[in-house]
Amino acid sequence: MKILKFGGTSVGSPQRMKDVCQLITDGNRKIVVLSAMSGTTNSLVEIADYIKKRNLEAAGNVINKLRTLYKQHVEELYSKEENKEKTNALLLDIFMHLHNLTTQEYSDKLEKEILAQGELMSTNMVTNYLKEQGVKVMLIPALDFMRTDSNGEPDMPYIKEHITDILKKNDGYELYITQGFICRNINGDVDNLQRGGSDYTACLVGAVLRAEEIQIWTDIDGMHNNDPRYVPNTTPVRQLNFEEAAELAYFGAKILHPTCIQPAHYAGVPVRLLNTMDPSAPGTIINDQMQKGTIKAVAAKDNITAIKIVSSRMLLATGFLHKLFETFEVNHTPVDMVTTSEVGVTLTIDNNAHLANIVEELKKYGTISIDENMCIICVVGDLRWGNVGFETLVTEALAQIPVRMIAYGGSNHNISFLVRESDKKAALCALSEKLFNNQQKAE
Ligand code: ADP
Ligand code: ASP
Ligand code: MG
Repeated sequence: MKILKFGGTSVGSPQRMKDVCQLITDGNRKIVVLSAMSGTTNSLVEIADYIKKRNLEAAGNVINKLRTLYKQHVEELYSKEENKEKTNALLLDIFMHLHNLTTQEYSDKLEKEILAQGELMSTNMVTNYLKEQGVKVMLIPALDFMRTDSNGEPDMPYIKEHITDILKKNDGYELYITQGFICRNINGDVDNLQRGGSDYTACLVGAVLRAEEIQIWTDIDGMHNNDPRYVPNTTPVRQLNFEEAAELAYFGAKILHPTCIQPAHYAGVPVRLLNTMDPSAPGTIINDQMQKGTIKAVAAKDNITAIKIVSSRMLLATGFLHKLFETFEVNHTPVDMVTTSEVGVTLTIDNNAHLANIVEELKKYGTISIDENMCIICVVGDLRWGNVGFETLVTEALAQIPVRMIAYGGSNHNISFLVRESDKKAALCALSEKLFNNQQKAE
């Protein structure tokens, strides 16, 4: 069985929903994971934000605007009056629920409940449309099987047991529709897998079911060799190794949720990136094959802070790095890049929530300095050290850009640079020019 995920733009209008329905009804049994219609999750974030700021009038206005918009969608989507009524009644329940939530005190839990409503709406709308078309379709609620554990990580055994059970008890459907992004946490409360999390849902479902393939359908023809939002003339990469794709996703390629490739990799399930707007385009296949001797793509991750710890006590000392890393561990802050010298270490983090605490504790070990608003530029491909010259090529591309850190050799697939966020676009363009335009001319 294949797992197909359609993102916000792919279900962003009634016509797009109809196009998706046509794509998924080819007679093959499949699970379809849907995002909220594009823009909806942002509106829900806005509602939560207004509640937080105790501006209930503004929260109510955003809800009413959404309600009017969804009424129009329903008019366009269905031809039968009874389906319009059925779906309007269902959506009305959701909008009333949202209005009720605005009367509650803001909390993290409340925000999660609000954010879940977008996927609940889109999946119900598409399921009702498919039913109108006479398709044997079933909506399986993600909140019945998608769960995180006490560390906030997906609870794979739970997910596997519950989705397997649901499918077993509901044999005989052509399509199973479910919500991306949303889940329950260890306490059973509604939670989510972070923004862009529908990709993660699809990969988790595909991994636990050992699916034939996971397909991520979006608005572009696969993973491009650089970020198309900043660099002109990027081109699709036709194949990526799981590790290459995981690095690109983690280091900012927005087309994939940062951690969604891991479960597919562990389960050995290939992931295909496809374009809903151009379904016959080949897209990108992500699998365990490794194309030797090529640099595949570049990505960038913003909001990075570099922390430098300089201490003469580090010289010849054992256990010094252990103490530094422990400080990050107890402050629940993952470290991305690391470079060391005999008397100093620089590390980067992408979450400043505990920065003040971290700095206080690190002062015990050395003199601390901080660089904020930095950006990691990550070059991905077959970067084994035997491939002479790649690191020189990449470094040459950045000759005009001040580079704060370089990390190479941590994996076979990645060379990372830390630059100022304000130099990001220039750095990405320079790399494209050097790495890909030259390569294209040579072909
Ligand atoms: P969806 O709503 O379908 O999940 P996203 O907006 O999350 O779609 O992801 C698709 C977008 O990712 C593209 O429209 C593109 O702007 C952006 N993107 C960033 N980096 C890349 C890349 N390297 N290759 C392809 N798309 C990328
Ligand atoms: N709707 C969620 C978001 O906008 C999840 C997703 O689209 O993947 O982040
Ligand atoms: Mg996305």
